[in-house]
Amino acid sequence: MVISSMKIDILTIFPKMFKGPFTESLISRATKKEILKINITDVRSFSKDKYKKVDNKPFGGGGGMVIKPEPLYDAIKSTGVKKKNDFYKNSYAKPYVIYMSPQGKTLNDKIVKNLSKFQHLVLVCGHYEGIDERIMSYVDEEISIGDYVLTGGEIPAMVLVDSVARMLPGVVKEEDSVKNDSFYNGLLDYPHYTRPAVFKGYEVPCVLLSGDHKKIYEWRKKESYKRTKERRPDLLKDRVEIEE
Ligand code: SAM
Repeated sequence: MVISSMKIDILTIFPKMFKGPFTESLISRATKKEILKINITDVRSFSKDKYKKVDNKPFGGGGGMVIKPEPLYDAIKSTGVKKKNDFYKNSYAKPYVIYMSPQGKTLNDKIVKNLSKFQHLVLVCGHYEGIDERIMSYVDEEISIGDYVLTGGEIPAMVLVDSVARMLPGVVKEEDSVKNDSFYNGLLDYPHYTRPAVFKGYEVPCVLLSGDHKKIYEWRKKESYKRTKERRPDLLKDRVEIEE
């Protein structure tokens, strides 16, 4: 198994928010094993303002504040982004700049798999009304985590990092479990059971206790397909293989 490492730079005005989520469980293991290197940068440290202010009122009036372009630009440059990114076109080696935004493409398994191929991601977290639009000239892609608005890009960045980290070889102990997870092969996962065999009168399906691996495999495949058909028929729309 080839284990390569990925670097993720996160640009934020609330760096402390990442402490808990990134020092526990999977992300912590990935960083300890040096499969993933996460670098959190406080955008305020690039502010030239005496009070480290990074926001200002929007031109044209209206409520809310906007994150200024200069500290964000300097923060992006500090990650090694040299030019506008089409300089490196089609290369997974370039730093790929993503702005976490409700206006971006909605994150899904396909996007996650593709992002996991990059060696270096740079995640820009907005706040307030968002960031100065001119920063988009340095952004390769906008990604949303769903059709709702959060206070800032930090939680979306955590979601992206967690989902991408699971795809990196060596992060999840049993890689096969990732491949059986929902969406990986276009289907939802099958139901899972553990001991005891009977819980409050509810029994585990007897095929799972049979020890017959072929039958278990077939049962899981069938359940996976059945669930997908019931809950997410949209996922089966373009599927060539018909499994009943
Ligand atoms: N005015 C913006 C709009 O309506 O599109 C929303 C700004 S939001 C209050 C502040 C920041 O949170 C955004 O700049 C973005 O970084 C982040 N954010 C909010 N919702 C998000 C979502 N669904 N996905 C990704 N990022 C989101």
